[in-house]
Amino acid sequence: VAKGAGKNRWRRYQNHLHGAMVERLELRSALDHAVNEGHFLLQYQPIVDLNTDEAAGFEALVRWHHPARGVIAPDQFIEVAEESGLIIPMGRWVLDQALHTVAQWRRVLPRARQPYVSVNVSVRQFRQKGFVDQVRASLDYAGVPPQALMLEITETLLMRDDEDIWADLAVLQDLGVRIAIDDFGTGYSSLSYLRQRPIDVLKIDKTFIDDMVGSEQQLALVSGIVSLAQTLNLTVVAEGIEDATHRDILQRLGCPLGQGYYFSSPVGPTEALTWLTVNRAVAA
Ligand code: C2E
Ligand code: MG
Ligand code: MG
Ligand code: MG
Repeated sequence: VAKGAGKNRWRRYQNHLHGAMVERLELRSALDHAVNEGHFLLQYQPIVDLNTDEAAGFEALVRWHHPARGVIAPDQFIEVAEESGLIIPMGRWVLDQALHTVAQWRRVLPRARQPYVSVNVSVRQFRQKGFVDQVRASLDYAGVPPQALMLEITETLLMRDDEDIWADLAVLQDLGVRIAIDDFGTGYSSLSYLRQRPIDVLKIDKTFIDDMVGSEQQLALVSGIVSLAQTLNLTVVAEGIEDATHRDILQRLGCPLGQGYYFSSPVGPTEALTWLTVNRAVAA
């Protein structure tokens, strides 16, 4: 009996593996279809100046608009998009769409209030040949200056010694494109890199903000990151600000910028423009 049960368990396990594989293949082919049909949309979350409550920029966040399953969050498909290489055509669309939208906003706003758009870029996208030219062409096509664009890369990229990517980033930074390290603090990057690499912005990961209220140690960490950034002449964005307590603490620590549901969840391009024209956080 025991042997039979073991066998059953093994078979169930194999079925499970098989099921997961089929699911992944299905996801991949559905994603392929979505890329060809353009079934994606972008939402925008304000990056707020903590001293004025005005939006300095917006982070563009991709969603998959599945005809049957509705709107699907990026956590559900970015990984498969990266593995399959579909992130390349998808990322190109994201960049073009985000720049097109920021161009529209900038056209209707006075110069002093023109925002930038911040776009997430996967390592795989940076590794493709001609990425810098693609960014340049997209900026030209949208008719916006490089200052209208920020690129977010995850901290894991910092830890790789991929000199080609860093060389490309340096070219983009020289152009005037801002470079941000996303989810900062979750990796194990060496701090000396921050000084040597072409980086403008650190985005403190949400987990630090979550834990900051109950823990002196976490608070000290966030405070440390903010002063480190100041020392290195970098700017800081705190992610995941969910309430007034978070906002007040960060403001007190001298953190210049923040993002989170307290100000606004990611919204469509029209609602984002309303945000810019009304120019104040509803919650504030
Ligand atoms: P991320 O770049 O760190 O983006 C922040 C995520 O936190 C977003 O989730 C955002 O909606 C969410 N968020 C913002 N404020 C709050 C808050 O106050 N509380 C909580 N609980 N969450 C908050 P989203 O849109 O699901 O994106 C998840 C991740 O998917 C992003 O993390 C990014 O790594 C990736 N991603 C999104 N769009 C793209 C894209 O176009 N290209 C690539 N390569 N990756 C993308
Ligand atoms: Mg991001
Ligand atoms: Mg982030
Ligand atoms: Mg994140």
